[in-house]
Amino acid sequence: MNSSELLAEENQVLKQQLQGLLQEARLNEDKMRRFERLEHQLIAAHSLLDLVSLLLTAYKQAFAIDHVALVLLDPAGEVDRMLQTETGTLDALPGLRLYPAHSGAKLLEAVYCGTRKPLLGAFDAALHAQLFAPAASAEIRSMALLPLARHGQLIGGLHFGSVDAARYEATTGTHLLERLANIVAVCLESAFNQERLKRVGLTDTLTGVHNRRYFEHRCLIEIAQARRYRHPLACLFLDVDKFKSINDQFGHATGDEVLRGIGHLIQGQLRAGDTIARYGGEEFVVLLPQTSAEFAREIAERIRGSVAQQRFVAAAPMLGSASNEAPAAPAALSVTASLGLAMLPGDTAGVEASAVAERLVAAADQALYQAKELGRNRVIAAH
Ligand code: GH3
Ligand code: MG
Ligand code: MG
Repeated sequence: MNSSELLAEENQVLKQQLQGLLQEARLNEDKMRRFERLEHQLIAAHSLLDLVSLLLTAYKQAFAIDHVALVLLDPAGEVDRMLQTETGTLDALPGLRLYPAHSGAKLLEAVYCGTRKPLLGAFDAALHAQLFAPAASAEIRSMALLPLARHGQLIGGLHFGSVDAARYEATTGTHLLERLANIVAVCLESAFNQERLKRVGLTDTLTGVHNRRYFEHRCLIEIAQARRYRHPLACLFLDVDKFKSINDQFGHATGDEVLRGIGHLIQGQLRAGDTIARYGGEEFVVLLPQTSAEFAREIAERIRGSVAQQRFVAAAPMLGSASNEAPAAPAALSVTASLGLAMLPGDTAGVEASAVAERLVAAADQALYQAKELGRNRVIAAH
């Protein structure tokens, strides 16, 4: 081979190498573009639910990932409540795993061992099984684990699993994944804050239970669920008896204290999926999903009994006591409440959920009115 032939051959090899590099660059550029598109979607997410759904579905599709799981630390069950407020149930988010603060932090620290950088490599069931759903864990061979941290503290992890052992290797560059983890963590924190703000607007400031606005929102969700799964749904309406006279005798501050106490007593009789709200003044409303009429009546009776038994303490000296007298001992007072109970009717096909909600509340209110008529301190069920 003469020198010009040698040069030609070398040129050929170089050309091929260049082609390979260009091809890789193009692939990287394409990957980069898909990453960017998803990052924009994350930033534009409207709610925590949107964000979590995007994380669990959009990446899976865009990058053809076999399994995506999101672990979030949920110290006081707050994230659970935020998401349930929007969905009614977490069943629609199967890749989501919420862990209480302590066990969750222990699990994540055992995996990340203090590092806040993505970990790529072989899947080790002993260490990583709890990060994914059981069925996924059985077939994952390699994984990319992205720690999600804010201010150095882990808040969760975004975890990708592949059935291909060669998909994620320890030597692969993690620059893009690191950036993604940062963006996800910031978006999550911002969504949490947004949800907390929303929550403030849905809470009754006097009693700390939900307000009417929340109830109206939640009622539509519960009605939809009850109709879809043909579950019974009960609604209780409670009104404090002769409450005006409490205010008149003991002052408004004591009245407020009694309302707080009643909110607390009602809550004490409910399960996690039930809803309680202050409807207005001295009226509370309760939604009991998946509850039969008989059981709802039992709960209503328990609420009524607990209110009647409770001794409230007057917050301020009674009005009219002369200033030169020794302050009167705090008076213990008792109150009663009347309750109306209504069940979601079974024949609401084709009726709009908002109209069904109105009817349900009106029926419970009507039953409450009868309870008042019949002498108060009782539970009456709508026919
Ligand atoms: P009934 O047994 O028929 O329900 O009699 P009632 O006195 O409870 O009913 P009424 O509707 O006449 O009075 C309700 C009272 O509740 C009047 C109002 O001053 C009082 N109230 C409403 N909101 C609040 C509140 O936030 N704090 C206090 N302390 N009182 C309130
Ligand atoms: Mg009233
Ligand atoms: Mg009243």
